[in-house]
Amino acid sequence: MLATALATTPGSARVIAVLRFPLAEALAPYRNLAIAIVGLAAVGLVIALVGTVGIARGVTRPLGALAAVAGRIAAGDYTPPAASARGDEIGQLSDALSRMAEAIRERERHIRHQAAHDAATGLPNRVDLLQRMSDLDRCALVALSPRRQREIVDTLGQGWGDRVIAATADRIAETAAFDATDPSGRAVIARIGDGTLGLLLPGVDVVRATDVATAAVAALERPLNIDGLSLDVTAAAGISASPDHDVPGADLLKFANVALAEAMRRETGVAVYDPADDPHRPERLSLMSELRDAIERGELTLFYQPKVVPATGRTAGAEALVRWFHPTRGFVRPDDFIPLAEETGTIRLLSRWAIATAAAQAARWRDQGFDLKVAVNISARDLADAGLPERIAASLAENRLPADRMVIEITESAIMGEPDAAIAVLQRIAEQGVALAIDDFGVGQSSLAYLRKLPVQEMKIDKSFILKLADSVDDQAIVRTIADLARTLGYVVTAEGVEDARALEHLAAVGVDYAQGYHMSRPIPPDAFDAFLADGRWPATTPSLVT
Ligand code: C2E
Ligand code: CA
Ligand code: CA
Repeated sequence: MLATALATTPGSARVIAVLRFPLAEALAPYRNLAIAIVGLAAVGLVIALVGTVGIARGVTRPLGALAAVAGRIAAGDYTPPAASARGDEIGQLSDALSRMAEAIRERERHIRHQAAHDAATGLPNRVDLLQRMSDLDRCALVALSPRRQREIVDTLGQGWGDRVIAATADRIAETAAFDATDPSGRAVIARIGDGTLGLLLPGVDVVRATDVATAAVAALERPLNIDGLSLDVTAAAGISASPDHDVPGADLLKFANVALAEAMRRETGVAVYDPADDPHRPERLSLMSELRDAIERGELTLFYQPKVVPATGRTAGAEALVRWFHPTRGFVRPDDFIPLAEETGTIRLLSRWAIATAAAQAARWRDQGFDLKVAVNISARDLADAGLPERIAASLAENRLPADRMVIEITESAIMGEPDAAIAVLQRIAEQGVALAIDDFGVGQSSLAYLRKLPVQEMKIDKSFILKLADSVDDQAIVRTIADLARTLGYVVTAEGVEDARALEHLAAVGVDYAQGYHMSRPIPPDAFDAFLADGRWPATTPSLVT
């Protein structure tokens, strides 16, 4: 209802107009409009909502996908995200992530490669070899080492050592025997030590592995050609196999190395693992601790073998050779414990004992009126004993023995490639007036040019040239050449291994200074030696049961 006062003339009553009309009816024309407006608003709202969700999804879904990719990368899966076609920030982010995944994958591949390979040569390494070996039930392992490796590293440097190892691996890979064992392509040549290669031969037994090792060693008889330099390396190889040697993976490697050490000692240059050679065998270790005790308890004795002048038969000296009478094992041969004592270092104790004992014996002979030079053997390990020259001096002084009554014997292989410090020990021994003799001369690889630089006075021609001297024209030629050469250079020459009168006659003719061998006498204990001296003739009339 609407009431309004109407305009009137002055003095007249107020007139009020009243209008009555239902509001709903009045508003009715506008309802549709309102509905339309609300409808439009609702539709607008829905559209806005759908749009917002759509836009939000457009951003979050690719981001979510990228987050998942990042998660995968963190977990070690480097498959890059599918290339994004988007040119916006999300597309850029996706590309960056993809590059990152690629870079990480590349770096990890590199790290994996490094962990499994030797950096200097690119060959698989020991870790990789062990890993591969652990996957195999049957396999053989050949440990191969160039014999000259140490000499090459010492004279040319580590870089050349690496090159030699790489070239050695190439040479082996070319051999038909290696190729033949490898139809599956699973055989590998790895670097398992500074100077050692390991050939892993899956599914191969000792017999076939020996063929491969022999062929590899033969192939390395030809010099290697590296950067225009021709290098004579010659190799030795040790073999172990599973299940033949029935051991888990890690031991196979150790066993191949034990066999390699044995192969180095052999002329053929190939050896199969034999527990008897294994210095780590508990039995052998106990033998070594027993040896230490034996030295202290006086279970060791020195036997002496005469050195005679071939032309006159006069006894001029003796070589002291150790003998071990073990309380339960009985007589143990030097060849059964000297190499082991060399490996464990016990030899240093033994050598000091031998020098003191031999000096005392030489003094006793002197007191009896016999002027004999006594020769004592030492080993390569003794050259690391810087106190040895003083020990020798002390032993000589204690017995008031002139230095020239003692000879120190060392093999050429023991001094080859030894560092200067070791050679200095020899020098200091020689400076006192003690003579140095090269033992087993002729079988080693040393050159006379090298030996010339050392303070050596005597050459002992190896017994392998002497044993069949009477019947071998070749040996006669060799012995004559060595004797002539040595004499020209001013060395005293001894021939050992003289087993018959004909050999002795031959040596007298050639002009060798001393002869030593079973024909004159086996190594004998000191009292038997006294009898030998008193008798003044040989063959020794004193029988000796153990020599
Ligand atoms: P070696 O120094 O070459 O000693 C010579 C070896 O040849 C001795 O063997 C000796 O008995 C043997 N022999 C001597 N004459 C003849 C012969 O006419 N025919 C044959 N077939 N053999 C002969 P042994 O005493 O068994 O010694 C073996 C090796 O043990 C020695 O070889 C030496 O390398 C080592 N050795 C012995 N005693 C010592 C020692 O006190 N110290 C060191 N470091 N090594 C020693
Ligand atoms: Ca000797
Ligand atoms: Ca010898």
